[in-house]
Amino acid sequence: MNFVDLKTQYERLHEPINRGIQRVLEHGQFVMGPEVLELEQRLADFVGVAHCVSVSSGTDALLAAMMALGIGPGDEVITTPFTFVATAETIALLGAVPVFVDIDPVSYNIAPGAITAAISERTRAIMPVSLYGQCFAVDEVRGIARDAGVAVIEDGAQSFGAASRGRLSCGLSEIGCTSFFPSKPLGCYGDGGACFTDDAELASVLREIRNHGQDRRYHHARLGLNGRLDTMQAAILLAKLDGFGEEVERRTAIGQRYTQGLIAGGAASSRDAEQGLLVPFVPEDQRSVYAQYTLQVDDRDAVIETLSAQGIPTAVHYPIPLNEQPAFASYPVTQDLSVSRRVSRRVLSLPMHPYLGEQDQDRIIASVLAACR
Ligand SMILES: *Cc1c(COP(=O)(O)O)cnc(C)c1O
Repeated sequence: MNFVDLKTQYERLHEPINRGIQRVLEHGQFVMGPEVLELEQRLADFVGVAHCVSVSSGTDALLAAMMALGIGPGDEVITTPFTFVATAETIALLGAVPVFVDIDPVSYNIAPGAITAAISERTRAIMPVSLYGQCFAVDEVRGIARDAGVAVIEDGAQSFGAASRGRLSCGLSEIGCTSFFPSKPLGCYGDGGACFTDDAELASVLREIRNHGQDRRYHHARLGLNGRLDTMQAAILLAKLDGFGEEVERRTAIGQRYTQGLIAGGAASSRDAEQGLLVPFVPEDQRSVYAQYTLQVDDRDAVIETLSAQGIPTAVHYPIPLNEQPAFASYPVTQDLSVSRRVSRRVLSLPMHPYLGEQDQDRIIASVLAACR
Protein backbone atom coordinates (compact mmCIF):
# COMPACT_ATOMS: atom_id res chain seq x y z
CA MET A 1 0.00 0.00 0.00
CA ASN A 2 1.29 3.48 -0.88
CA PHE A 3 0.88 6.68 1.10
CA VAL A 4 0.38 8.52 -2.21
CA ASP A 5 -0.14 6.49 -5.41
CA LEU A 6 1.27 8.35 -8.41
CA LYS A 7 1.69 5.15 -10.41
CA THR A 8 -2.02 4.40 -10.80
CA GLN A 9 -2.62 7.98 -11.92
CA TYR A 10 0.14 7.67 -14.51
CA GLU A 11 -1.29 4.40 -15.80
CA ARG A 12 -4.65 6.12 -16.34
CA LEU A 13 -3.20 9.25 -17.95
CA HIS A 14 -0.05 7.94 -19.63
CA GLU A 15 -1.23 8.63 -23.18
CA PRO A 16 -1.90 12.37 -22.87
CA ILE A 17 1.11 12.80 -20.56
CA ASN A 18 3.49 11.03 -22.96
CA ARG A 19 2.04 12.95 -25.91
CA GLY A 20 2.54 16.25 -24.08
CA ILE A 21 6.16 15.46 -23.20
CA GLN A 22 6.84 14.28 -26.75
CA ARG A 23 5.49 17.53 -28.16
CA VAL A 24 7.85 19.56 -25.97
CA LEU A 25 10.81 17.40 -27.04
CA GLU A 26 9.90 18.10 -30.65
CA HIS A 27 9.37 21.87 -30.48
CA GLY A 28 12.33 22.32 -28.14
CA GLN A 29 11.13 25.43 -26.27
CA PHE A 30 12.03 23.99 -22.87
CA VAL A 31 11.80 27.30 -21.01
CA MET A 32 8.70 29.51 -21.40
CA GLY A 33 7.34 27.37 -24.22
CA PRO A 34 3.74 27.63 -25.45
CA GLU A 35 2.49 25.05 -22.89
CA VAL A 36 3.39 27.45 -20.07
CA LEU A 37 1.07 30.19 -21.34
CA GLU A 38 -1.69 27.70 -22.13
CA LEU A 39 -1.43 26.24 -18.64
CA GLU A 40 -1.55 29.68 -16.99
CA GLN A 41 -4.74 30.54 -18.87
CA ARG A 42 -6.37 27.25 -17.90
CA LEU A 43 -5.31 27.48 -14.26
CA ALA A 44 -6.59 31.07 -14.00
CA ASP A 45 -9.93 29.96 -15.47
CA PHE A 46 -10.07 26.98 -13.10
CA VAL A 47 -9.52 29.17 -10.03
CA GLY A 48 -11.68 31.97 -11.38
CA VAL A 49 -9.11 34.78 -11.23
CA ALA A 50 -7.77 37.07 -13.94
CA HIS A 51 -4.09 36.09 -13.77
CA CYS A 52 -1.96 33.03 -13.10
CA VAL A 53 1.83 33.34 -13.08
CA SER A 54 3.49 29.94 -13.03
CA VAL A 55 6.75 29.57 -11.13
CA SER A 56 9.35 26.93 -10.35
CA SER A 57 7.97 25.77 -6.99
CA GLY A 58 5.50 26.56 -4.24
CA THR A 59 8.38 28.03 -2.27
CA ASP A 60 9.22 30.41 -5.12
CA ALA A 61 5.53 31.30 -5.41
CA LEU A 62 5.56 32.52 -1.79
CA LEU A 63 8.87 34.32 -2.29
CA ALA A 64 7.71 36.01 -5.51
CA ALA A 65 4.38 37.02 -3.94
CA MET A 66 6.09 38.78 -1.05
CA MET A 67 8.69 40.37 -3.35
CA ALA A 68 5.88 41.67 -5.57
CA LEU A 69 4.31 43.33 -2.53
CA GLY A 70 7.67 44.88 -1.65
CA ILE A 71 8.10 42.96 1.61
CA GLY A 72 11.65 43.07 2.94
CA PRO A 73 13.92 43.78 5.91
CA GLY A 74 12.12 45.13 8.97
CA ASP A 75 8.69 44.07 7.77
CA GLU A 76 6.55 41.54 9.63
CA VAL A 77 4.38 38.82 8.16
CA ILE A 78 1.88 37.01 10.35
CA THR A 79 1.52 33.26 9.88
CA THR A 80 1.27 30.06 11.90
CA PRO A 81 4.05 27.76 13.08
CA PHE A 82 1.98 24.65 12.26
CA THR A 83 2.90 24.33 8.59
CA PHE A 84 5.60 23.19 6.20
CA VAL A 85 8.83 25.12 6.69
CA ALA A 86 8.60 27.03 3.39
CA THR A 87 5.80 29.26 4.71
CA ALA A 88 8.01 30.99 7.27
CA GLU A 89 11.34 30.25 5.58
CA THR A 90 10.52 32.53 2.65
CA ILE A 91 9.48 35.36 4.99
CA ALA A 92 12.81 35.07 6.81
CA LEU A 93 14.84 34.75 3.58
CA LEU A 94 13.54 38.18 2.52
CA GLY A 95 14.81 39.64 5.77
CA ALA A 96 11.28 40.03 7.10
CA VAL A 97 10.13 38.63 10.44
CA PRO A 98 7.70 35.71 10.65
CA VAL A 99 5.32 36.54 13.50
CA PHE A 100 3.74 33.30 14.61
CA VAL A 101 0.18 33.13 15.88
CA ASP A 102 -1.63 30.01 16.96
CA ILE A 103 -3.96 27.77 14.98
CA ASP A 104 -7.62 27.03 15.50
CA PRO A 105 -7.88 23.57 17.13
CA VAL A 106 -10.73 22.50 14.82
CA SER A 107 -9.46 23.54 11.37
CA TYR A 108 -5.68 23.61 12.10
CA ASN A 109 -5.59 26.90 10.18
CA ILE A 110 -4.68 30.34 11.54
CA ALA A 111 -6.98 31.35 14.42
CA PRO A 112 -8.56 34.65 13.33
CA GLY A 113 -9.07 35.67 16.95
CA ALA A 114 -5.32 35.52 17.57
CA ILE A 115 -4.27 37.74 14.67
CA THR A 116 -5.22 41.22 15.90
CA ALA A 117 -2.95 41.06 18.95
CA ALA A 118 -0.01 40.24 16.65
CA ILE A 119 -0.48 43.20 14.32
CA SER A 120 2.06 46.00 14.69
CA GLU A 121 3.12 49.05 12.71
CA ARG A 122 5.53 46.82 10.83
CA THR A 123 2.97 44.22 9.73
CA ARG A 124 2.81 44.07 5.94
CA ALA A 125 0.88 40.88 5.30
CA ILE A 126 -1.00 37.96 6.80
CA MET A 127 -0.09 34.60 5.31
CA PRO A 128 -2.74 32.03 6.21
CA VAL A 129 -2.06 28.42 5.20
CA SER A 130 -4.93 26.30 3.87
CA LEU A 131 -3.55 23.27 5.64
CA TYR A 132 -4.37 19.68 4.72
CA GLY A 133 -6.47 20.94 1.80
CA GLN A 134 -9.04 23.03 3.69
CA CYS A 135 -9.31 26.78 3.08
CA PHE A 136 -8.40 29.27 5.82
CA ALA A 137 -11.16 31.39 7.43
CA VAL A 138 -11.44 33.73 4.46
CA ASP A 139 -13.93 36.35 5.61
CA GLU A 140 -12.51 36.69 9.12
CA VAL A 141 -8.87 36.95 8.02
CA ARG A 142 -9.62 39.31 5.15
CA GLY A 143 -11.71 41.51 7.43
CA ILE A 144 -8.84 41.83 9.90
CA ALA A 145 -6.38 42.52 7.07
CA ARG A 146 -8.63 45.21 5.60
CA ASP A 147 -8.96 46.95 8.97
CA ALA A 148 -5.19 46.85 9.43
CA GLY A 149 -4.44 47.88 5.85
CA VAL A 150 -2.29 44.83 5.12
CA ALA A 151 -2.35 42.21 2.35
CA VAL A 152 -3.37 38.56 2.57
CA ILE A 153 -1.23 35.96 0.80
CA GLU A 154 -2.77 32.50 0.89
CA ASP A 155 -0.30 29.61 1.15
CA GLY A 156 -2.48 27.25 -0.87
CA ALA A 157 0.26 24.70 -1.51
CA GLN A 158 -1.96 21.95 -0.08
CA SER A 159 -5.35 23.24 -1.17
CA PHE A 160 -5.47 23.59 -4.95
CA GLY A 161 -9.03 22.59 -5.89
CA ALA A 162 -10.47 23.28 -2.43
CA ALA A 163 -13.38 25.69 -2.07
CA SER A 164 -14.82 27.96 0.58
CA ARG A 165 -18.46 28.95 0.03
CA GLY A 166 -18.08 28.21 -3.66
CA ARG A 167 -14.90 30.26 -4.11
CA LEU A 168 -11.75 28.37 -4.98
CA SER A 169 -8.50 28.27 -3.05
CA CYS A 170 -5.82 30.57 -4.51
CA GLY A 171 -8.55 33.03 -5.52
CA LEU A 172 -9.35 34.07 -1.95
CA SER A 173 -6.83 36.86 -1.33
CA GLU A 174 -4.58 39.49 -2.97
CA ILE A 175 -2.22 36.73 -4.08
CA GLY A 176 -2.81 32.98 -3.79
CA CYS A 177 0.18 30.65 -4.01
CA THR A 178 0.24 26.95 -4.78
CA SER A 179 2.68 24.10 -5.35
CA PHE A 180 2.74 21.38 -7.97
CA PHE A 181 5.19 19.16 -6.05
CA PRO A 182 4.38 15.60 -7.14
CA SER A 183 2.45 14.59 -4.01
CA LYS A 184 0.28 17.72 -3.83
CA PRO A 185 -3.37 17.52 -5.01
CA LEU A 186 -2.32 18.73 -8.49
CA GLY A 187 1.26 17.56 -8.94
CA CYS A 188 3.77 17.61 -11.78
CA TYR A 189 6.81 15.33 -12.15
CA GLY A 190 9.30 17.61 -10.45
CA ASP A 191 9.03 21.03 -8.86
CA GLY A 192 6.46 23.61 -9.89
CA GLY A 193 4.13 26.24 -8.50
CA ALA A 194 1.98 29.23 -9.32
CA CYS A 195 0.76 32.62 -8.08
CA PHE A 196 -2.81 33.78 -8.70
CA THR A 197 -4.15 37.31 -8.56
CA ASP A 198 -6.92 39.54 -9.92
CA ASP A 199 -4.57 42.54 -9.93
CA ALA A 200 -3.04 43.13 -13.39
CA GLU A 201 -0.24 45.29 -12.00
CA LEU A 202 0.77 42.63 -9.44
CA ALA A 203 0.62 39.95 -12.15
CA SER A 204 2.96 41.93 -14.35
CA VAL A 205 5.41 42.42 -11.45
CA LEU A 206 5.21 38.69 -10.66
CA ARG A 207 6.04 37.89 -14.30
CA GLU A 208 9.14 40.06 -14.08
CA ILE A 209 10.21 38.61 -10.74
CA ARG A 210 10.06 35.01 -11.92
CA ASN A 211 12.39 35.95 -14.78
CA HIS A 212 15.25 37.85 -13.09
CA GLY A 213 13.25 41.06 -12.86
CA GLN A 214 13.40 41.39 -16.63
CA ASP A 215 10.81 43.70 -18.22
CA ARG A 216 12.32 43.40 -21.70
CA ARG A 217 15.20 41.37 -23.01
CA TYR A 218 18.34 41.97 -20.88
CA HIS A 219 16.75 44.95 -19.17
CA HIS A 220 16.23 44.35 -15.46
CA ALA A 221 13.68 46.61 -13.81
CA ARG A 222 14.04 44.96 -10.40
CA LEU A 223 15.73 42.05 -8.66
CA GLY A 224 14.09 38.74 -9.43
CA LEU A 225 14.56 34.99 -9.43
CA ASN A 226 15.29 32.17 -11.80
CA GLY A 227 11.76 31.13 -10.97
CA ARG A 228 10.14 29.88 -14.16
CA LEU A 229 8.11 26.69 -14.53
CA ASP A 230 9.65 24.24 -17.05
CA THR A 231 7.69 23.74 -20.27
CA MET A 232 7.86 19.97 -19.69
CA GLN A 233 6.16 20.32 -16.31
CA ALA A 234 3.54 22.61 -17.85
CA ALA A 235 2.78 19.92 -20.47
CA ILE A 236 2.41 17.29 -17.72
CA LEU A 237 0.10 19.57 -15.73
CA LEU A 238 -2.03 20.29 -18.81
CA ALA A 239 -2.54 16.55 -19.28
CA LYS A 240 -3.39 16.08 -15.59
CA LEU A 241 -5.70 19.09 -15.43
CA ASP A 242 -8.29 17.39 -17.67
CA GLY A 243 -8.94 14.75 -15.03
CA PHE A 244 -8.37 16.98 -12.01
CA GLY A 245 -12.03 17.79 -11.36
CA GLU A 246 -12.80 14.08 -11.10
CA GLU A 247 -9.79 13.55 -8.83
CA VAL A 248 -11.00 16.31 -6.52
CA GLU A 249 -14.37 14.57 -6.28
CA ARG A 250 -12.70 11.27 -5.49
CA ARG A 251 -10.50 12.90 -2.85
CA THR A 252 -13.50 14.50 -1.19
CA ALA A 253 -15.46 11.25 -1.24
CA ILE A 254 -12.53 9.26 0.15
CA GLY A 255 -11.94 11.81 2.90
CA GLN A 256 -15.60 11.74 3.88
CA ARG A 257 -15.61 7.93 3.83
CA TYR A 258 -12.63 7.85 6.23
CA THR A 259 -14.51 10.18 8.55
CA GLN A 260 -17.75 8.16 8.44
CA GLY A 261 -15.94 4.86 9.04
CA LEU A 262 -13.89 6.19 11.93
CA ILE A 263 -16.84 7.97 13.58
CA ALA A 264 -18.88 4.77 13.29
CA GLY A 265 -16.05 3.01 15.16
CA GLY A 266 -16.09 5.53 18.01
CA ALA A 267 -13.83 8.40 16.88
CA ALA A 268 -14.85 11.99 17.66
CA SER A 269 -14.45 15.09 15.53
CA SER A 270 -11.80 17.76 16.24
CA ARG A 271 -14.78 20.09 16.82
CA ASP A 272 -16.04 18.03 19.74
CA ALA A 273 -12.97 16.86 21.67
CA GLU A 274 -9.28 17.44 22.39
CA GLN A 275 -8.29 13.93 23.46
CA GLY A 276 -8.73 10.46 22.04
CA LEU A 277 -9.02 9.56 18.37
CA LEU A 278 -10.12 12.65 16.44
CA VAL A 279 -11.10 13.01 12.77
CA PRO A 280 -11.06 16.27 10.78
CA PHE A 281 -14.10 18.54 10.86
CA VAL A 282 -15.02 20.09 7.51
CA PRO A 283 -17.98 22.54 7.65
CA GLU A 284 -20.81 22.16 5.12
CA ASP A 285 -19.78 25.25 3.18
CA GLN A 286 -16.20 24.02 2.68
CA ARG A 287 -14.75 21.54 0.20
CA SER A 288 -11.50 20.01 1.39
CA VAL A 289 -9.22 18.31 -1.13
CA TYR A 290 -7.67 16.33 1.73
CA ALA A 291 -4.08 16.91 0.65
CA GLN A 292 -3.61 14.95 3.87
CA TYR A 293 -6.18 12.97 5.81
CA THR A 294 -4.96 13.80 9.29
CA LEU A 295 -6.13 12.37 12.59
CA GLN A 296 -5.25 13.15 16.17
CA VAL A 297 -4.35 10.22 18.40
CA ASP A 298 -3.22 9.94 22.04
CA ASP A 299 -0.28 7.54 21.66
CA ARG A 300 1.04 8.35 18.21
CA ASP A 301 4.18 6.22 18.32
CA ALA A 302 2.19 3.12 19.22
CA VAL A 303 -0.36 3.73 16.45
CA ILE A 304 2.40 4.28 13.87
CA GLU A 305 4.07 1.05 14.94
CA THR A 306 0.86 -1.00 14.83
CA LEU A 307 -0.09 0.30 11.37
CA SER A 308 3.43 -0.09 10.04
CA ALA A 309 3.49 -3.75 11.16
CA GLN A 310 0.37 -4.26 9.02
CA GLY A 311 1.98 -2.61 5.99
CA ILE A 312 0.08 0.67 6.33
CA PRO A 313 2.29 3.74 5.81
CA THR A 314 1.65 6.91 7.81
CA ALA A 315 3.28 10.35 8.08
CA VAL A 316 3.36 13.22 10.56
CA HIS A 317 2.50 16.69 9.25
CA TYR A 318 4.20 18.30 11.19
CA PRO A 319 6.04 17.00 14.27
CA ILE A 320 7.72 20.26 15.38
CA PRO A 321 6.08 23.72 15.21
CA LEU A 322 8.33 26.13 13.30
CA ASN A 323 8.91 28.36 16.34
CA GLU A 324 10.59 25.35 17.99
CA GLN A 325 12.87 24.67 15.01
CA PRO A 326 16.54 25.68 15.31
CA ALA A 327 16.28 27.73 12.09
CA PHE A 328 13.76 30.07 13.73
CA ALA A 329 15.38 30.25 17.17
CA SER A 330 16.29 33.92 16.72
CA TYR A 331 12.68 35.04 16.15
CA PRO A 332 10.94 36.02 19.38
CA VAL A 333 7.70 34.24 20.21
CA THR A 334 5.17 36.87 21.27
CA GLN A 335 1.92 34.90 21.13
CA ASP A 336 0.50 31.82 22.86
CA LEU A 337 1.23 28.88 20.54
CA SER A 338 -0.03 26.10 22.77
CA VAL A 339 -2.54 24.62 20.31
CA SER A 340 0.16 24.23 17.65
CA ARG A 341 2.39 22.60 20.23
CA ARG A 342 -0.25 20.16 21.51
CA VAL A 343 -1.49 19.21 18.06
CA SER A 344 2.02 18.72 16.61
CA ARG A 345 2.47 15.88 19.11
CA ARG A 346 -0.84 14.24 18.24
CA VAL A 347 -1.36 14.44 14.46
CA LEU A 348 -1.03 11.46 12.16
CA SER A 349 -1.76 11.34 8.43
CA LEU A 350 -3.18 8.25 6.72
CA PRO A 351 -2.68 7.09 3.10
CA MET A 352 -4.61 9.49 0.86
CA HIS A 353 -4.87 9.70 -2.92
CA PRO A 354 -7.71 9.64 -5.47
CA TYR A 355 -7.25 5.95 -6.27
CA LEU A 356 -7.39 4.54 -2.73
CA GLY A 357 -9.69 1.50 -3.02
CA GLU A 358 -12.50 0.77 -0.56
CA GLN A 359 -10.97 -2.51 0.56
CA ASP A 360 -7.65 -0.88 1.43
CA GLN A 361 -9.48 1.96 3.12
CA ASP A 362 -11.59 -0.40 5.22
CA ARG A 363 -8.43 -2.19 6.33
CA ILE A 364 -6.82 1.13 7.32
CA ILE A 365 -9.94 2.21 9.25
CA ALA A 366 -10.12 -1.12 11.11
CA SER A 367 -6.42 -0.97 11.98
CA VAL A 368 -6.63 2.61 13.28
CA LEU A 369 -9.68 1.79 15.40
CA ALA A 370 -8.00 -1.34 16.83
CA ALA A 371 -4.74 0.54 17.52
CA CYS A 372 -6.57 3.32 19.38
CA ARG A 373 -8.82 1.09 21.44
C1 LIG B 1 4.61 21.95 -0.15
C2 LIG B 1 4.40 23.21 0.59
C3 LIG B 1 5.09 24.39 0.28
C4 LIG B 1 6.25 24.45 -0.67
O1 LIG B 1 6.00 23.97 -1.95
P1 LIG B 1 7.22 23.43 -2.84
O2 LIG B 1 6.62 23.28 -4.20
O3 LIG B 1 7.67 22.14 -2.25
O4 LIG B 1 8.30 24.46 -2.82
C5 LIG B 1 4.75 25.55 0.97
N1 LIG B 1 3.79 25.55 1.92
C6 LIG B 1 3.12 24.44 2.25
C7 LIG B 1 2.04 24.51 3.27
C8 LIG B 1 3.40 23.22 1.61
O5 LIG B 1 2.73 22.12 1.97
